[in-house]
Amino acid sequence: MSDEIKKSLLIIDDDDFTRDMYADVFRGADFTIYEARDGIEGLDIATQKLPDAIFTGIVMPRMDGFTLIETLKKHTNTASIPIVISSHLGREEDKKRAELLGVREFIVRDTTTPREVVTIVSNLFAKGAEYALQFDPYALDAQRMAQQLRINSHFQCMECGEKMLIKVRVDDSKENPWFRMKFVCPKCGWQLP
Ligand SMILES: [Zn+2]
Repeated sequence: MSDEIKKSLLIIDDDDFTRDMYADVFRGADFTIYEARDGIEGLDIATQKLPDAIFTGIVMPRMDGFTLIETLKKHTNTASIPIVISSHLGREEDKKRAELLGVREFIVRDTTTPREVVTIVSNLFAKGAEYALQFDPYALDAQRMAQQLRINSHFQCMECGEKMLIKVRVDDSKENPWFRMKFVCPKCGWQLP
């Protein structure tokens, strides 16, 4: 990341040890770090500093991660800050909820090394890494796909009815290039995993 402007990351976790550990790892990867101990502190710093990304836990005193994210998404100046959740328990229902809120990545702490976490967060800033595409819901296999995904045949958002877009994330910087696609509502941000 040396040829780019230093990225800032807000790390929110009530556990001092965990927070310090990630702060060190990210500083080592040339990030500017802000730290907060709960959702209230996190909201405060996010609003003041407008970090390039937020890395937050879920279970915290005073204000939990989900309440924080909901609040950030409601305000125009913080709504587009990419958020990564660091989950201790990795519960499916939390993962679903995170997706509905437009959280970019959901990390299960015990199965993801700090190095991998840095890569995942860094990938949020990879240039041209995400593309929004439109497609024809009636062409070729689209209707079969709609059935399998249990989405309506017009590929409309299940929250607001807007036509969904396909978002494709591409990483061709590594030996084994990968891409991943998601259906996303351009209006309310609802996502189909
Ligand atoms: Zn929608």
